Amino acid sequence: MSIQNNRLSPQEFENNFSDIHPPFEHIEGAVIEANRCLSCYDAPCTKLCPTSIDVPLFIKQISSGNIKGSAKTIFSSNIMGGACSKVCPVEKLCEGACVYNLLQEKPISIAKLQRYSTEKAIAGKWKLFNRKPSIGKKVAVVGAGPAGLACAHALSLQGVDVTIFEKEEKGGGLMTYGVAAYKVTPEFCKNEVDYILSVGGIDIHYKKALGTDITLPELQQKYDAVFLGIGVGIARRLDIPGEELEGVEDAISFIYNLRTTDFSKTPVGDKVAVIGMGMTAIDAATQSKRLGAKEVTMIYRRTENEKPCTDVELDLAKLDGCSIVWLANPKEIIGENGKVKKLVCSKMKLGEPDASGRRAPVDTGETFTIDVDMVIKAAGQIPFEELVSKSSLENKSGKISINKKSETTLKGVFAGGDAVNGGKEVVDAVQAGKDGAKGILEYLTS
Ligand SMILES: Cc1cc2nc3c(=O)[nH]c(=O)nc-3n(C[C@H](O)[C@H](O)[C@H](O)COP(=O)(O)OP(=O)(O)OC[C@H]3O[C@@H](n4cnc5c(N)ncnc54)[C@H](O)[C@@H]3O)c2cc1C
Repeated sequence: MSIQNNRLSPQEFENNFSDIHPPFEHIEGAVIEANRCLSCYDAPCTKLCPTSIDVPLFIKQISSGNIKGSAKTIFSSNIMGGACSKVCPVEKLCEGACVYNLLQEKPISIAKLQRYSTEKAIAGKWKLFNRKPSIGKKVAVVGAGPAGLACAHALSLQGVDVTIFEKEEKGGGLMTYGVAAYKVTPEFCKNEVDYILSVGGIDIHYKKALGTDITLPELQQKYDAVFLGIGVGIARRLDIPGEELEGVEDAISFIYNLRTTDFSKTPVGDKVAVIGMGMTAIDAATQSKRLGAKEVTMIYRRTENEKPCTDVELDLAKLDGCSIVWLANPKEIIGENGKVKKLVCSKMKLGEPDASGRRAPVDTGETFTIDVDMVIKAAGQIPFEELVSKSSLENKSGKISINKKSETTLKGVFAGGDAVNGGKEVVDAVQAGKDGAKGILEYLTS
C-alpha cells in the first residue's frame, strides 16, 4: 500500500474527469426540452432558487430562439448563472421543485437549459449590461469568490468603482479551487470571471491578502465601504491520535492540489478513507477514485437519513465504486514508520436530536479497524476565526455576524457568503453578494 501519483494513463484521466453533465450540442435539443416547460404560474422552480432566477421566462425565451434574452434573464438574477448551471445541487433546488416530479415524470432539465444560454453568452462575450456612469464612490471587496464577484458586479452596474483584493492568483474562489474537476474546468472558471469583470469599473488585485498585505482599517480609510467575501478556511480537525501522520490530508488541500496541478501529479493512496458525508467529502471520495485509488471508504457518524449530501451526490460516490460505512466515527489513526496504516473507528448509534435537529450519534463502545494508507478529512470547514477576531468583527466561532442589511458590527463594513453562513453553496454566496451590494448602495446613498 502506498500513496502515489500518475496511477492512470492520460486517456483514463481524461475520461474520469470529463464533464459529468454533457451540454446540449444543438439548439434543437434545447428548444425541444424548453417546450416541455409548463410555465407554471406560481413557478416553484423560481421560488426554490436562492437567487430567484425567472426560470419559466428564460425557458420561454429559449423555446422562441431568443438565447440572448434568456442569458440576460438568468444573469440579471445571478451573474454566476453559468457556474450554477454546472454546480448547483438542482435536485434539491429548481429541478427538485419542478411539478413534473409530482407527475412521476422527469423534471425539466433547467440546469442544462441554463447552461446552454450562459455558455453561449460567455463564449460569445455578449455585452448584456451597461454600467451606469460613476457615482464617485469607491468600495473595496475582499475575496474574488462567488460572493465577492456578485457584490462587485452589482455595485459596478450602479456606477460604484470597485477594487477587489484576492489572496490567490486567480478569481472564482472555491469554484476555481474547490468544486470537483468533473463539474467545472479551470478554463470555464477563468472565462466566467473575465466575463463578470468585463462589465467595467472593477479593478482586481491578485495575491493580496487581508491580514497580510492589507488591513481592514486601511481599507476603511481608503474606501467608502468594504465587503468581506473571504469564505471559510481549511477542513475541521478530527482531534484524534495519529492525525499528524503522513497520509492524513485535509480535503480542501487535496482538492486544491488536484485543481491546480495535472491529475497525473496528484498523489492518492491505494486505500483511502474519507471522513464526512457532505459535498466536500463526496468530491474528495469520487476524485480519489477517479485518480486511481483502489479502494475508497466513506465514514459517516450518522445514518443515510441524516446525511448532509443529496441522494444524487451519494449515488455518484456509489457509482464511482466508493464504499460507505454509516454510524462510524474515527477514533485513532495508526501508523507505521510515520505513515498511515490503519484507521480505528467507533461504532455509533443514534440518540436524541441535537441542535441541528438531527438525531445525535452516540458511541456504542465497540470499534472496528480498516487498513488504509490515506485519510482525507472532510468533516466541515473552519471559518477564519483569528483573522476575523483580529479585525474586531463580531463573530460566532469565526462566522462574521451581520444585520439584515448585510452590515457587520463595524460601520461601513459588509460581509456575505461562506464567511457568514459557515459554508453553503455557490448560489447562496451569489445571493449574499447581491444582498451585500444592496446594503452598501443604501449606505452610500443615505
Ligand atoms: C470541496 C468543495 C466542493 C464544493 N462543491 C460545490 C458544488 O458542487 N456546488 C455548490 O454550489 N457549492 C459547492 N461548494 C461550496 C461553494 O464552493 C461555496 O459555498 C462558495 O464558493 C462560497 O463562495 P464565497 O465567495 O463565500 O467563498 P469562496 O468561494 O471561498 O471565496 C472566497 C474568496 O476569498 C479569498 N480570500 C480568503 N481569505 C482572504 C484574505 N485574507 N484576503 C483576500 N482574499 C481572501 C479566497 O481565496 C477566495 O477566492 C463546494 C465547497 C467545497 C469546499
